[in-house]
Amino acid sequence: MESPFDSHIKQNVNFSISDMTQRILCFILITGGVLTISSFVRNAPITVNTKKAIGTVIIDPGHGGNDHGAKGRFSSEKDICLAVSLKLGALISKDFPELRVLYTRTTDTYPELHDRAKFANENKGDLYLCIHVNAARGKRIASVIGYKTVTYYTGKGASRKKRTKKVPQYRYTYLPSEAKGTETYIWGAHRSEDKELAIIENAPMMQEENFEKNYGSIDVNSPEFIAISLLKTKQYFKRSATLAGFIQDEFSKVGRVDRDVRQRAIGIWVLQATAMPSVLVETGFISNPEEEDYLNSETGQDELSACMVRGLRNYLTWLEQKQQLENTPPTTATLATTHSFFEAVEDKHKQTIK
Ligand SMILES: [Zn+2]
Repeated sequence: MESPFDSHIKQNVNFSISDMTQRILCFILITGGVLTISSFVRNAPITVNTKKAIGTVIIDPGHGGNDHGAKGRFSSEKDICLAVSLKLGALISKDFPELRVLYTRTTDTYPELHDRAKFANENKGDLYLCIHVNAARGKRIASVIGYKTVTYYTGKGASRKKRTKKVPQYRYTYLPSEAKGTETYIWGAHRSEDKELAIIENAPMMQEENFEKNYGSIDVNSPEFIAISLLKTKQYFKRSATLAGFIQDEFSKVGRVDRDVRQRAIGIWVLQATAMPSVLVETGFISNPEEEDYLNSETGQDELSACMVRGLRNYLTWLEQKQQLENTPPTTATLATTHSFFEAVEDKHKQTIK
């Protein structure tokens, strides 16, 4: 296992922010899970400890109401999403009674996307699971059913000639798409700015009652605040990707075709508007008859939700281990490494100034 120091440095590599902010960020990262935010909160030096694992899971069954989503031979995406989501939630409550499970919908209704995100943010979700069903266009097969004679002319004036040719006539049949399997989406990395915005807007402290009175005012444009937001964005990205990976692993263990973890640039607004790690699971292809049967079957829905719960279990174990590591006071060795790291940064800084 890599040391927290290594992973912190790695997390930091891609940041293209000012040197000062970078150093503030390094400091925050190296001090681990305890974020001292006193530097940008006037009057009230407070310490926020990272939470133990997670408390609230938001389940979002895709589509609903007039929005049917993708359609198969006999079923609609919205109904499968709801059925799988309810099974998933019930299983989470059974296996993790300490977790609070909330749904964006439990009936055939269509909450608007911004309301779903708002619901998740207002309820301080720690995880957002979005359940969908995939569809792929079928193949068009052309078969020749006969020939038609067509008349045409060539040349001009005296050399103009009448000609005929045979043109094949086709009948088109559509074969259902063979695409099958599950894929899990996280928000596109280039969408991080939107995520930052959602995080800034939903900083848990700011939702507290009497926030101004208790903490004074926060300058959301201060480098320190932006540094924390960037940190959260990176953290959520890593967590979302990790959870998505664990879920996909479980799907492939039961023989589902593994279409991997993907980033989608458009169409997953909720993933970037929720200030928490979030994934969207495309449970299978309604456009594939075999898969449509599976998605509508009791066995299929049980299997899908069980896979997601096992993925969640692995994620929670991973998160707890990570948090334990972060909450462990730095050892002398870590402090020495940290110290030499800062010296190296300092040297580099001096060199660039020269
Ligand atoms: Zn969908």
